[in-house]
Amino acid sequence: MQKSHILAAARLAVVAALLTIVSCKKDQAPTETAMSADQETVSPEVMRYLHEAGFDTTIKVAAQNGRFIVEGDIALKQSIVFEDLRRRKAGGTENQRHSYQSLISGDANCNINVVVTGNLRTNAAWMQSIRWGISQWNVLLNCRINFILDESRTPDGVWEDLVITDGDLSSVGAFGMGDWPAFGAVGDLLQIDMNAVANAGSTWGEYSGKRTFLIMHELGHNLGLRHADIANPDNAIPGTPVLDPNSVMNSGGNNIEFDHFSEYDRIAASYLYPVTGNSVLTNAIYGPSVVPYGAPFYQHFAAAIYGDNFYTWTLLDANQQHLHTFFEEEQDGRVLTWSLTVNANPLPVGQYYLRCTVTGADYTASPALFPFTIQ
Ligand SMILES: [Zn+2]
Repeated sequence: MQKSHILAAARLAVVAALLTIVSCKKDQAPTETAMSADQETVSPEVMRYLHEAGFDTTIKVAAQNGRFIVEGDIALKQSIVFEDLRRRKAGGTENQRHSYQSLISGDANCNINVVVTGNLRTNAAWMQSIRWGISQWNVLLNCRINFILDESRTPDGVWEDLVITDGDLSSVGAFGMGDWPAFGAVGDLLQIDMNAVANAGSTWGEYSGKRTFLIMHELGHNLGLRHADIANPDNAIPGTPVLDPNSVMNSGGNNIEFDHFSEYDRIAASYLYPVTGNSVLTNAIYGPSVVPYGAPFYQHFAAAIYGDNFYTWTLLDANQQHLHTFFEEEQDGRVLTWSLTVNANPLPVGQYYLRCTVTGADYTASPALFPFTIQ
């Protein structure tokens, strides 16, 4: 999301550069006047490539840290762009021309493992916004996106699919930046410029809804969603309007204060990533692993949160013996909430576990067990 970019009249709501549709534009080269880039670092060939991929190259294209930055806050790894260009030159078929797909492909199960690192990891306010932002994606109906946040992990290059970290984005003037998917895999980096947000003043930096919105927005780029307010009529998502001022994928951002998806965001997400009958989604619990003794409340979330699920939350002791079953919003002994908030819990210090079982959905979800400590 850009800090101060004022865009011209928007044409379309949430759009994604769908492979088949983008391919129709392969022979339309951008004109010189349509380009606005640092030609010393972004070659005409790359500019043409980005244009053909559906990005608006009239907005400055930057090249830095091994990435091309388009539309203000969308990052494409240069190595992947060059690999894709190499494949094209190798004489590929029409289908190979655009092998750099914008969507996560193939898998009925979009379980996406996430770790948070850097200064974000130790910032309680940001961590809560990250949990909420991820939960907003997970809770979308008829959408198989299932982010699994494990706060106990650090990046090992193996387990995680996506790293969320802080970074200095001042050179491109962005609050956040999301890497674009590549070859069917989720964009694997989400950066937040914590200083830029903090310096935006109390009306922005201290408002949790805006932080959550920023996380939701950049995650959208990681999933292959472009900006809703940058016209690209050739790859609009069916069922979305010309303009959606409430979309989480609008690029302006500075005065956006809500932390939920618009109606058309939901349509777009379920269009791109529908739940399929054989989806197997991994449930997980995420939230603080250390709770201060006497904390007024603490909150945990379930990852697999689709449709009319039921959640049974149970508190276990250090030996994983039953201590308590939570009955908020109880129906027939099952809990309907995907987040568990424990208020003024008098538990003594020690090791505990939370267990969350999901039932009643039209897909399979494994039980989740989460250790945490009160100290
Ligand atoms: Zn953006």
